[in-house]
Amino acid sequence: MIIEIPKGYTYMKEGNIIAFEENGILKMQRRHGKFDEIMYDVTYQQKGRDKCYYCGRNRNENQLLKITLDHIYPRSLGGPTIPPNLIPACRKCNSLKENMTPEQFRAYRKIKGEQQKDLFRKEYFRTKYFQERWVHILPEEWISQTTISDLLVSIDLHDTSTIKYKRTKEYYARCQQFPSPIIIDCHGFVLDGFTIVLYAKNNRIKEIPTIVLENVEVIF
Ligand SMILES: [Zn+2]
Repeated sequence: MIIEIPKGYTYMKEGNIIAFEENGILKMQRRHGKFDEIMYDVTYQQKGRDKCYYCGRNRNENQLLKITLDHIYPRSLGGPTIPPNLIPACRKCNSLKENMTPEQFRAYRKIKGEQQKDLFRKEYFRTKYFQERWVHILPEEWISQTTISDLLVSIDLHDTSTIKYKRTKEYYARCQQFPSPIIIDCHGFVLDGFTIVLYAKNNRIKEIPTIVLENVEVIF
């Protein structure tokens, strides 16, 4: 996947440039950089922080309007924190959408009448824990399979006592799948999904569903 990077983009933290655009490639200093934080910032740079993409309300008309970033495919369903999956939304729309898929939220917003809306929400809350997993909702073209031995991981992966690890283990046992795809840069450097990599290694699972950011490069 190629993500759109604003030309001349830089991201500073504590006086250091920790990410910048060069010839269409986003270069990231791994040791400083928080991947999620940079993805949020790139999205704001690209899509602005003034307008809600769902209801159209604008900060120019209402200074108090708070704009947040919504995960179009919800995080709880494995939606990744990358610009194509992030969209500026006002707090109201973001909390109304909750963990609905884009289709569910589109359907919800078309409903006229409060009573009908309430019925839809009731049904949604009743079924939300059973709804389809990311393998069924994320665009297929985002995902490829990566052989685990091709991955580069800079941090020491040993800790299996974390809650994240326990959740990954439970999810895998239940669904025979990981809770989300991992995210890597153009060289196979892992940007997101360390616990999943650890779980796969420990259980000799050879391939992991992956989102490859072809124009992102970790530099040292
Ligand atoms: Zn809104």
